[in-house]
Amino acid sequence: MKILLHICCGPCASGVVPWFKAQGLDFVGFYYNPNIQPFSEYEKRRVNLEEVAKILDFDVIYSIDWEVEKWIHNFSSEQRCYNCIFLRLEKTAKLAKEIGFDAFSTTLSISPYQSLDVIRNCFERISNKYKIDYVFNNFRSLYQDSIKFSKSNGIYRQNYCGCIISEYNMLLRKRAKGDRIE
Ligand code: SF4
Repeated sequence: MKILLHICCGPCASGVVPWFKAQGLDFVGFYYNPNIQPFSEYEKRRVNLEEVAKILDFDVIYSIDWEVEKWIHNFSSEQRCYNCIFLRLEKTAKLAKEIGFDAFSTTLSISPYQSLDVIRNCFERISNKYKIDYVFNNFRSLYQDSIKFSKSNGIYRQNYCGCIISEYNMLLRKRAKGDRIE
């Protein structure tokens, strides 16, 4: 079974990819994240993933376009996070079909900040819509491994999810703690 693995960022990939390798799964990564804003941050995380992929020796397809315009209409949606995850996983499933892969997956479920129910529901809907299998797993137990990997390899770890709203919320939390906002 050939799997297209959606990758949100290098640190999350560093936790999940060793699991895929240990299972003997045949996979290629796919970096597609129109939610990462601004573009300088999108590029920073892309380059960071290149570094991780080099260290762990796996292939990644990088989306040529940022496609933020496909995300931006979510800005004021109450379902923003659901739509955000759906958008990225749908693109992954569509590409997997196009290139003749059998299934799609994601690194997102390593994050304790993402809803596993939302991810699972997106998988189910997209799988039914495009008639393609998926690999879903709760990877949260690997989260600490990804932190260790980042520390020992000098890998950048972002402090907000991706969109400017998540950055704003992170800065508000900082300010509430009395930390300086730079
Ligand atoms: S907080 Fe994260 S998951 Fe939610 S909309 Fe922003 S980038 Fe997407």
